[in-house]
Amino acid sequence: MTTSPLFYQAGPAMPEVSHGQGVFLWDTRGKEYLDGCSGAISCNLGHGRQDIRDAMTAQLDRVAFTYRTQFENAPAMALGNALVEMTEGALKKVFFVSSGSEAVESALKLARQYFTTRGEPQRRHFVSLRPSYHGSTLGALGVTGYQPLEAPFADITSGSLKVPGPDFYRRPEADRETHVRRVLDETRERIETAGGDTVIAIVVEPVGGASTGARLVDRAYLKGLRALCDEFGCLLIFDEVLCGVGRTGRWFAYQHWGVVPDLLTTAKGLGAGYYPVGALLCREDIVETVMAGGGFQHGHTYAGNPLACATGLAAVEAIRREGLLDNVNARGRQLQRGLEALKARHDWIGDVRGLGLLWGMELVMDPVGKTPFPADANLFARVTALAKEEGLLIYPRRTLDGRAGDHFLVSPPFTIDEDETVLLLERLGRALDRLDREVA
Ligand code: PLP
Repeated sequence: MTTSPLFYQAGPAMPEVSHGQGVFLWDTRGKEYLDGCSGAISCNLGHGRQDIRDAMTAQLDRVAFTYRTQFENAPAMALGNALVEMTEGALKKVFFVSSGSEAVESALKLARQYFTTRGEPQRRHFVSLRPSYHGSTLGALGVTGYQPLEAPFADITSGSLKVPGPDFYRRPEADRETHVRRVLDETRERIETAGGDTVIAIVVEPVGGASTGARLVDRAYLKGLRALCDEFGCLLIFDEVLCGVGRTGRWFAYQHWGVVPDLLTTAKGLGAGYYPVGALLCREDIVETVMAGGGFQHGHTYAGNPLACATGLAAVEAIRREGLLDNVNARGRQLQRGLEALKARHDWIGDVRGLGLLWGMELVMDPVGKTPFPADANLFARVTALAKEEGLLIYPRRTLDGRAGDHFLVSPPFTIDEDETVLLLERLGRALDRLDREVA
């Protein structure tokens, strides 16, 4: 066996991928895997699509790369317009990037520059949730609330004011309304302690990803955040890197609750796994202010290149043409019913939550106390390994916030059909039955 020069994470040796088609992948030994998490919640249209390939090769035949300050390019313009349309015109300006972390960095920096341009340089704090994940670069990591990732770098990131978000599964309060009110009160207190006029923005994922196992917000919470931002004059940033571009059954997750942000980040599924492309979407007047002040002091080399944008455009057009948001909703309901049935089979499945085709399952030692399994049991890794043996990919994590524990995401491509959803649930069911024999 040759030694790999690549290093990503400690863990068992991985199979080598051979090829993919639709919702399936095969390794070089011929084993089939159902891609139940769209890679990293990014291959939203499945694998091996001829239409995306055609759009990419057509663009490659014209030109792959031009630099954003030297040429306009038609795919960037068209994808920009498509994104604006997806927000129903609420956010009219688009800044392209190549990853989720870059999108978040761009949002943080644009927000800060907006206030320095307006003569409010004292605004230097971001408010964000614990747990949360916003990316791996130092700025995005600063607003991330996920202890294992933060720890080695805590003293060299700018950090943020970390506040709890809503946790409807573990809320101590009797009803959701009181819970949301308490969480918002804590956020207000934190802002007031720091000084309301020192806050740049509140950053939140409308549907949590890997860091929370698809934890949801609700309308009252988002309305409360909007009201806090308006009161203290800071901006509201929704990080939809993972949950945007149709993943929850609407173009953007915030549209389920009707509360509009000032800035929105998206990436992952935008290029559907075929090419990296992400975007920052902005309220027009914010951009106008920054541009009038001399322009945005920020940018990345590959931002908005023709090939990236042609790929993103082909992906968005495929979702539209094939009515895939309807399929996300229909298969999402089927998946929810199936996951609930699996939860009923095992009392150590504490919670099933999600929207569209973004579902999380949380594992607990006892369903009443909701106590997590001990960290060294590594249940999230175990369930993932068992699922992989059964031919199913899922996306696992352990939340180390002292309360929640092991969870995983089930988030297949938007193209999954009814029979494939049944197969996904069968394979997951077998993995969970095997885990049951281990934890019982
Ligand atoms: N924001 C959220 C909500 C994410 O889920 C992620 C990645 O998982 C990121 C930002 C960072 O994106 P990337 O890995 O493309 O840099």
